[in-house]
Amino acid sequence: MIIQRVVLNSRPGKIGVPVAENFRLEQSTISDTIQEGQVCVRTLYLSVDPYMRCRMNEDTGSDYLQPWQLSEVADGGGIGVVEESKHKNFAKGDFVTSFNWPWQTVAILDGGLLQKLVPQLVDGRLSFFLGAAGITGLTALLGIKEKGHVSAGANQTMVVSGAAGACGSLAGQIGRLEGCTRVVGIAGTDEKCSILVSEMGFDAAINYKKGNVAEQLCELCPGGVDVYFDNVGGDISDAVISQMNQNSHVVLCGQISQYNKEMSYPPPLPPEVEKIRKERNITRERFLVLNYMDKQEASILQLCQWIKEGKLKVRETVVEGLENIGAAFQSMMNGGNIGKQIVSVSK
Ligand code: NDP
Repeated sequence: MIIQRVVLNSRPGKIGVPVAENFRLEQSTISDTIQEGQVCVRTLYLSVDPYMRCRMNEDTGSDYLQPWQLSEVADGGGIGVVEESKHKNFAKGDFVTSFNWPWQTVAILDGGLLQKLVPQLVDGRLSFFLGAAGITGLTALLGIKEKGHVSAGANQTMVVSGAAGACGSLAGQIGRLEGCTRVVGIAGTDEKCSILVSEMGFDAAINYKKGNVAEQLCELCPGGVDVYFDNVGGDISDAVISQMNQNSHVVLCGQISQYNKEMSYPPPLPPEVEKIRKERNITRERFLVLNYMDKQEASILQLCQWIKEGKLKVRETVVEGLENIGAAFQSMMNGGNIGKQIVSVSK
């Protein structure tokens, strides 16, 4: 069978800015028949995520992520429909997902690598399983629960950076649901800031590309910051951490502003900010959602319930066509998305 697939065309280099041309669409063939234990799936949705930046390097710098190889098909979170199955757990028409879904239109996969999806949980909005009802939602929820020390009645102020992105937009809303009394977002455009306040229930939002972040934070968080959900690192995080209260907590989710740099993870804070962190006993522990997969099932159910009840507002930015996945990745890395960046491959 003839299929389309997307391979890694070139590496941006550790400190280069990734572009759509780092990926290449090509035609390929797969077998017309499947073996015992295999499933033939048609791809519906693919996810592009910041962690993929390090998979573009020869060495990812982490033991749980493998680099993509040149001229080999890329992979990541994906959702599809079963076209044919020789695996006992799956039947034609089932919707399935995997963290290692190949970027191709149709694929033959080992059934053991797939998880079945229940579309009713998200009222049929399947792509949510790559975002709010998937790893992204889990990251926001478990990051807050495991590292945020949010407690209802404690009158806490939460700040979220990367706030209009997939994780950030959920983290602010979950912070509120868990009991924070004030939630302030930081994002890269006025439109994003306006959506955070009007749609997602943030109390205020700062456009970090305009004006002085530290001054605006000071005004918007008069009682200081108790919980900081950090998606970006760098100058923005230095400004937030400098305004954090005694015994407060950073949820160290990601550091996207540093991903095109040569760095160790997590990147150390500048000495003057590290001094503040120590003096004020601010925790900043590494958080990796994959370490909490024992909580996956219950957490997904919680997220789906909030989505159904309208307590969690979900935004997606959808790009159509496998051929545009490289452009979608580039755009997401540069702030082109509001909410989760999704690539729709087929209907
Ligand atoms: P997003 O949907 O948030 O997309 C990335 C966003 O980052 C862009 O929209 C852009 O928004 C912002 N951004 C890009 N460059 C910069 C910069 N230099 N400074 C500030 N903001 C920037 O992606 P995700 O929600 O998928 O991921 C968010 C973070 O969470 C990432 O750091 C990611 O690595 C991390 N993550 C961590 C996990 C974990 O287990 N710890 C799991 C999943 C994700 P803007 O317009 O505001 O600049």
